[in-house]
Amino acid sequence: MKFFGFKGGVHPPENKIQTENQAIEIFKASKMVTIPLLQHIGVPLTPCVEVGERVLKGQKIGDSQGFLSVPIHSSVSGIVKKIEVMPFPLMGEVLTVVVENDFADEWVELKKIEDWKKSSKEELLAVIKEKGIVGLGGAAFPTHIKLNPPADTKIEALLLNGAECEPYLNSDNRVMIEDSEKVVEGIKIMKHILGVELAVIGIEDNKLESIEVMKNACKGTGIEVMPLKTMYPQGGEKSLIKAILNKEVPSGKLPSSVGAVVNNTTTAAAIYDAVVNGLPLLDKVVTITGKAISEPKNLKVLIGTPINEILEYCGYNEEIVEKVVMGGPMMGMAQFKLEVPVIKGTSGLLALTKEETNACKPKSCIGCGKCVDVCPMSLEPIMYARLAEFSQWEDMGRYHLMDCIECGSCSYICPANRPLTEAIKIGKAKLRSLKK
Ligand code: SF4
Ligand code: SF4
Repeated sequence: MKFFGFKGGVHPPENKIQTENQAIEIFKASKMVTIPLLQHIGVPLTPCVEVGERVLKGQKIGDSQGFLSVPIHSSVSGIVKKIEVMPFPLMGEVLTVVVENDFADEWVELKKIEDWKKSSKEELLAVIKEKGIVGLGGAAFPTHIKLNPPADTKIEALLLNGAECEPYLNSDNRVMIEDSEKVVEGIKIMKHILGVELAVIGIEDNKLESIEVMKNACKGTGIEVMPLKTMYPQGGEKSLIKAILNKEVPSGKLPSSVGAVVNNTTTAAAIYDAVVNGLPLLDKVVTITGKAISEPKNLKVLIGTPINEILEYCGYNEEIVEKVVMGGPMMGMAQFKLEVPVIKGTSGLLALTKEETNACKPKSCIGCGKCVDVCPMSLEPIMYARLAEFSQWEDMGRYHLMDCIECGSCSYICPANRPLTEAIKIGKAKLRSLKK
């Protein structure tokens, strides 16, 4: 297949070298896990356990009938100590279940489907939902919905996002290197559900080991591996579709409108574990790095583990830290309370020094147009910033604000340091509230 590339994009310093060769280590279970009942796009869940109850590892603790929801499970066995609203790493506060670990590591019974080829699409989708699988590239979109596009859309290609284009992160990279067989088996399950022949794994060409390992693992399966030119945000769904299939997803439409479904490679491994091993999604591989970390690592961490325990284990230096970020430096969220937990969508924890953050004050726009040139969605970030200054939210919407993927490329490139992505995020929130 030919690589077509995508419009715009930036190339920030990669900073992957610190952790790219660090094998995944299992991080010890915490005494107390705090599990927010919102770890997917959609409505928060309702708890299905009570304070004082003993729960088993893998037991469902929250569920909802909402269309975009998936259940959440306890990552340890122990006693439910609290169910209350607590700080959430992605902003604000969310109802959270706190479980005190009894370290008995006692599991619920796990139902396994070893010969999944005999299962129907509906059965497999139900398992993927029930095991709480969401997109693990950060967006946390429920996977069973992505794998079940409307009946009148013909899906021709399954694309696997192994780009991991955010600087610093090596979480997907290490999963591809160390768990390639699970990734491939998960892709086969997805192909079976979607009924597609074409499956392509896109991996940026700064991950040569992953490319080689995945090519070997895919031999004889018909699954293709495509090296992609390293360029941020290559891993955005629409960028990936353009780069691999040379198709443009129209404004306001989903990838299925051009016959594609995109899933992350780590999600593929989680699908395999859910179906074949009966495992709910209880842990996540997280890259811990940044100059305020003396021992950068890739750790497999139980969902609900407080981030301060993880940072400390990796040699966190609070004397020199300027900012702690959950996720990558381009799209991640700054953290102000380090007791917040790792959630399903957590790929990285960055402890950045002043030198690594862009702490310069904004200056006046010089009209250079660089923000427009780099926008992968062909938007005009500078116009959004001006409209936001005058609270013209509806006008922002008329100019396709909701197509913005919040990649941060415009803010990154701006020589005047304008807070463009911030203005866009505020504009989107205002527009959503106007529509309610
Ligand atoms: S406008 Fe949105 S999509 Fe375009 S560069 Fe800025 S953040 Fe990225
Ligand atoms: S990149 Fe910055 S300075 Fe240049 S036009 Fe955009 S907002 Fe203005």
